[in-house]
Amino acid sequence: MSKLRTVFLTLFALAGLVAGTEVSAQGELPPMQIEQLTEHVYRYGGLTNGAFIVGSEGIAVVDGQVCGSNGTQWLKEELARRFDVPVKYTILSHDHEMHICGLEVFSDTARAVSHVNAKPHIIREGRRTAIPEITFDTTMQLDLGGIEVVLLYLGPTHTDNLIQVHVPAEGVLIAVDFVREGKSLAMPELRDADVVNSIKALGILGRMENVDIVVPGHGGVTDQQAFLYFRDYLQALRERVLDQMVAGKGIEEILEIVTMEDFSDYGWFDLWVRSNVIGMWELLYHYREPTEGAGAYESEFPIGFPVGEVDKFSGP
Ligand SMILES: [Zn+2]
Repeated sequence: MSKLRTVFLTLFALAGLVAGTEVSAQGELPPMQIEQLTEHVYRYGGLTNGAFIVGSEGIAVVDGQVCGSNGTQWLKEELARRFDVPVKYTILSHDHEMHICGLEVFSDTARAVSHVNAKPHIIREGRRTAIPEITFDTTMQLDLGGIEVVLLYLGPTHTDNLIQVHVPAEGVLIAVDFVREGKSLAMPELRDADVVNSIKALGILGRMENVDIVVPGHGGVTDQQAFLYFRDYLQALRERVLDQMVAGKGIEEILEIVTMEDFSDYGWFDLWVRSNVIGMWELLYHYREPTEGAGAYESEFPIGFPVGEVDKFSGP
């Protein structure tokens, strides 16, 4: 066999290996499914949950699917086959790409809606989705004909642009990435999050009226109590990490002391508690001014005027 032929055969085998890997990676995604929750509201998805609401004049699709999964194109074909009204709106729960990929497939009939803070992130960071055409700040209502959808923004929480999608007449709340089924940690790490306002917003959602079914962005449907479970965990985590920082402890010691063991019956606890402690420490380190003499919590950087420069700033 010539040397050149050997090289070609090797390349061919490698290409086959790569193609095979791609197929099996795609194959690992859960199959796409649609589940009717109430008269007008459906959950759909594979790895992540999206939803859609069907009125007499049109459909609103909440969120896309994981990039590369082709899930939104699959949904488009299913909706065309099942209903005789067009998709009028696509609603982006927030800018995180895993939840919004592929929504541009609906751009022939639908206008994309998001919180006002989501649009610049989507453009600046090149998210693969529809560019929002309609944005709002605090609340917005969409009438689909016989069914109303209310979009709510409760301030910065999981991101600075996460919204809640409420269908009050049917008691459904679509709450992506802010809650998981039952007792569960809801965020792997706290990157991008505003913890203080999240604690407040989780309390509001836990007590909101007309909510019987909560649809998280991942996993099974749940109820309002799930918001309060996560709120209790987040609040305890914040207080315990801050207590140790005030006592002068650094992150290594905090990881030893703050075990959150009393929350170990929560879903995802074993996998995420450590990254949550680190995330909380980082947030508090950057956003809380330490009390003087609080050891490891104090800034390592000199923040006063340099010696000899003070007179320049003290005025005549
Ligand atoms: Zn997210």
